[in-house]
Amino acid sequence: MPSEFRNEPFTDFTKEENASSMRDAIAKVQSELGREYPLVIGGERIRTGNFLESINPANRTQVIGRFNKATRELANRAVEEAAKAFETWKNTSAADRAALLFRVAAIMRERKHELSAWMIHEVAKTWPEADGDTAEAIDFCEFYAREMLRYASDQPLTQIPGEQNRLEYVPLGVGAVIPPWNFPCAIMAGMTVAAVVTGNTVVLKPSSDAPAIAFKFFEMLEEAGLPPGVVNFMTGSGAEVGDVIVDHPKTRFIAFTGSKEVGLRVNERAAKVHEGQIWIKRVVAEMGGKDAIIVADDADLDEAATGVVQSAFGFQGQKCSACSRAIIDSRVYDTMLEKIVDRTSKIKLADPTDQTTSMSAVINEKAFKSINSYIEKGKSEGGRVLIGGGSDGEQGFFIEPTVIADVKPGATIEQEEIFGPVLAVIKAENYDDALKIANDTQFGLTGAVYSQDEAKLERARREFHVGNLYLNRKCTGALVGVHPFGGFNMSGTDSKAGGRDYLLLFLQAKVASEKVGATTKRAEAGTATD
Ligand code: NAD
Repeated sequence: MPSEFRNEPFTDFTKEENASSMRDAIAKVQSELGREYPLVIGGERIRTGNFLESINPANRTQVIGRFNKATRELANRAVEEAAKAFETWKNTSAADRAALLFRVAAIMRERKHELSAWMIHEVAKTWPEADGDTAEAIDFCEFYAREMLRYASDQPLTQIPGEQNRLEYVPLGVGAVIPPWNFPCAIMAGMTVAAVVTGNTVVLKPSSDAPAIAFKFFEMLEEAGLPPGVVNFMTGSGAEVGDVIVDHPKTRFIAFTGSKEVGLRVNERAAKVHEGQIWIKRVVAEMGGKDAIIVADDADLDEAATGVVQSAFGFQGQKCSACSRAIIDSRVYDTMLEKIVDRTSKIKLADPTDQTTSMSAVINEKAFKSINSYIEKGKSEGGRVLIGGGSDGEQGFFIEPTVIADVKPGATIEQEEIFGPVLAVIKAENYDDALKIANDTQFGLTGAVYSQDEAKLERARREFHVGNLYLNRKCTGALVGVHPFGGFNMSGTDSKAGGRDYLLLFLQAKVASEKVGATTKRAEAGTATD
């Protein structure tokens, strides 16, 4: 049996040996930029000659890699190859599949800084943010491997005389795995290995903003001994080939993480039964957030301000869990504004390869424009920009950490997911009002409350309707195994990634009942629900 699961420790970059290893990894990645990467379908490396380019958001002329774009025909083929591979992969033992994940985790650990360095270049993560992403990916492999062994062990059933009953979890079939770019290693790897360790085969379609890191991970799967066709690596337009793998009659499930708009589209398309399809597709869709931190009048204001600023601006506010609303009791509102502005002013917005950078560029030009237009909208709806508001798209997509105060409940930037470094601050009359404002959104992903009053915290446990609630701490930074993650309402299906329920989403339970020895009336009669 493997040892008890433990989270991968984060790297302490104040130690020179660690900083030096990261610098070496950055240099290595820089020497490999601009290469061409194939599609890998059924183990075959395929080139279409039609490319999408992944670029460095902090240095927009730097090409990270050129990726062959799949056609619709190749997307269909990827599903067919996955279906073929399923026929053998489903029969491998859970122990063998778990062992594969342990080997992948070991390879990732060995080349940890290299993976992080790819993220530093491809999505402009700072050193600690990239390191956290890699650690989480390793955690998913370690955690889900152990979870599979647990699900493969004897499952408790009520036994009756004359029968031997056994419940076994079996895989579903072919899955479409569609991750976002913002946790390009952790979420991409987590959804993929969850599907694979449970005996399914997949078509992995990474985000067009982060295909390089996905390819590096795919190579590690191959190195660990993953048979051809179990994971098919397919880059291409989400709208075009994404639809094909969602629609395909042999697709049995879709594991999606991304925006509400695309998630709803996937869900709707998956509901349609196509010619030859003999099942209802299962959709796991984790989507957006409009996460709030409530600061009560009795909170430790320094702690609260630090939590708000870290949650709002870590990875440029591009986390589904990011704090995009600070809802502050009117009695401490002005003091909190000062403290938030003070901490925000210390953020260093720069190139992410620099160890001292605390915030960098947003993902792409579309996001740059959209975030800037939200800042304008915030102003036009009466918001007061306390700090930031500026941007520079020349070298990369840099937007200053921006705090907009006096935002009214119901205003656009209080309701819509901005997914960038913009914090809306809302004044609440009191704690009742704060909870009401916090819940008045279509989303329900994360939230936090700062208060020193246990009764207020208890009310939040009952009334603050989010999948992940944090008390007296920031609302980002969920750890595998510790904080199973997933949201309510339009934030998704509440899959609780990194938790003990997660693998069930990739499995179905089969019960085999064998009549043995002398029979009894009860066994022959069956039950009312037969
Ligand atoms: P997105 O919805 O634009 O893209 C997600 C994935 O869907 C990408 O791989 C994309 O190529 C693909 N896609 C696009 N159109 C498609 C289609 N028609 N069919 C199939 N696939 C299609 O999201 P994004 O910009 O990559 O990620 C940011 C979003 O993800 C934010 O809304 C964020 O809140 C959310 N997110 C949620 C969680 C969570 O756990 N709830 C975690 C991370 C990110």
